[in-house]
Amino acid sequence: MESVRYPDIFKRLTEVQAQLKAIDKFVSLVYIPGHTGITGNDFANENASKLANSIASGNTDATDNITVTDVYKLATGIVMRSWQRMWNEDSTGRTTYSFIPEVGTEVIFPKRGEVGVSYCRILLHDTMLNDDAFRTGTADTYMCECGQEWQTVEDVLLHCTRYVEARSIMKDYLSNICNNLKSKSKQKRNIEVDESLLMAPFNYTNSTVVHRKEDKYIKEALFDFLSSVDRRI
Ligand SMILES: [Zn+2]
Repeated sequence: MESVRYPDIFKRLTEVQAQLKAIDKFVSLVYIPGHTGITGNDFANENASKLANSIASGNTDATDNITVTDVYKLATGIVMRSWQRMWNEDSTGRTTYSFIPEVGTEVIFPKRGEVGVSYCRILLHDTMLNDDAFRTGTADTYMCECGQEWQTVEDVLLHCTRYVEARSIMKDYLSNICNNLKSKSKQKRNIEVDESLLMAPFNYTNSTVVHRKEDKYIKEALFDFLSSVDRRI
């Protein structure tokens, strides 16, 4: 159909296709319907035409030289913004979103496989702890064996009486990190140990900023704790 509407362009494209084929690069030409009538698209088209005319008439300066690196940068930016928009507006994965709201975040994972599984299960809100297991029908109760409260991630990480010793080691380690940081920056920072700090330090915004290096240390403390807990998470 387009070969009828745009015979010159179609001829040129098939020539390029043949040239590529000669060097063993196979490209298929497919028809993609236009987007006329879609408000956002019409708006973008109109503005693109205006700008193109303005450049052509010399009213707007534009480079006639663009590098491959620039193209990659532009394309990456577009893809990342689109991915972020989807992640912001999605209706699933909201627990993971609360820990990692920004797409492209480099998440530190533990070296030990079983700790990694536990960490991922917590990120995905699908643990083997009674609170989740009861919800999915694989446990008879949501209570923790300590008898104190529901067996949630927060219980295991912060309150459960069964892990007092492991937790105190973790907290000592964390307070060491915080003290060192304070003396370096000479600024008192109020880092409170909670679930969000342990799970996603890089995303911790409770009146303070956690830097990349601290992120690594805090995660190490969490992973050591998880590996010392005698229960699969
Ligand atoms: Zn407990």
